[in-house]
Amino acid sequence: MTCKSIPVADLGNPATDEERFRAVHKWAVNNKFVGGFPTFHRERYGTGVQVYGAVLFTAEAAECLDVEKRDLREFSSNEERFRSIDQWASDTKVAAAFPNFIEDEDSTGIMFGTIVLKAGAVLRKLDISEHILRMHTTWTFSDDITSSQRLRSLAQHARGFDRVITCGNLEPQEKADVLAIYQTQVIDHQVNHEPGVNARGGGRVLHINFNVLFPQGDDEIAQTLIHELMHCAGYRHGHITRTSTPEERSVYYNTAPLRAELCIAGRQSLQTSERVCTCKNDSAWIIWAAQVPRSAL
Ligand SMILES: [Zn+2]
Repeated sequence: MTCKSIPVADLGNPATDEERFRAVHKWAVNNKFVGGFPTFHRERYGTGVQVYGAVLFTAEAAECLDVEKRDLREFSSNEERFRSIDQWASDTKVAAAFPNFIEDEDSTGIMFGTIVLKAGAVLRKLDISEHILRMHTTWTFSDDITSSQRLRSLAQHARGFDRVITCGNLEPQEKADVLAIYQTQVIDHQVNHEPGVNARGGGRVLHINFNVLFPQGDDEIAQTLIHELMHCAGYRHGHITRTSTPEERSVYYNTAPLRAELCIAGRQSLQTSERVCTCKNDSAWIIWAAQVPRSAL
């Protein structure tokens, strides 16, 4: 697979989305690839040359087939065309496939050009929920957060979303409130550098201490994130300290943010240690990775 920027003029200045698919395919074939698809990224180089992004496949990764109309579900839009080809791929047990928007006709009827990706070229075909897709496209990350930190954060946010849906540890209203954060809100992510802090959250901003939190593993990351999102959804809890009574501790662990942590891995990350979440006001719920300084209580 190759990602390439192709001058628009070389593609024949395609005017519609369908034409752009056909143009990328034809360019790919003319340049010894099996096929490709446009990324819909466009850029103008310093030289004034406008280019379109494309992903191209070699013969090791893909093959081009004509699929007969009778083998496909009826479609009347581009989205339906993709769904129809995807269903065909699933029915015929190929790894994945997409249309190149080239149609041909022979004695048996219309044939639809299809790029079939080979099993070795497709790591995993995912059904990505619209909410997770939304998170990836609208949630923001400051420039000092690396791409791998961003992707790991989003993966663990997504895990929290999946778990909350089926989790028995949250009440229906609590679930609805935190799911609404994923579905309708934009969460901004910043870097936190406070010693001994996993994350600080409030409102619609999460400050993550990547150096402290990430080495603790995915369960702790997912639990910290869902706990903070429960605060974003308006749920609170009191404070506990080393000297808290069993009753006070029980109240703390039975609050929605702590029960949300149970949805991740069946345990609360804070229960077995002195790591707790503290708050001086609603704008700063701090999850401590280490012992909480007295000044924070
Ligand atoms: Zn908390």
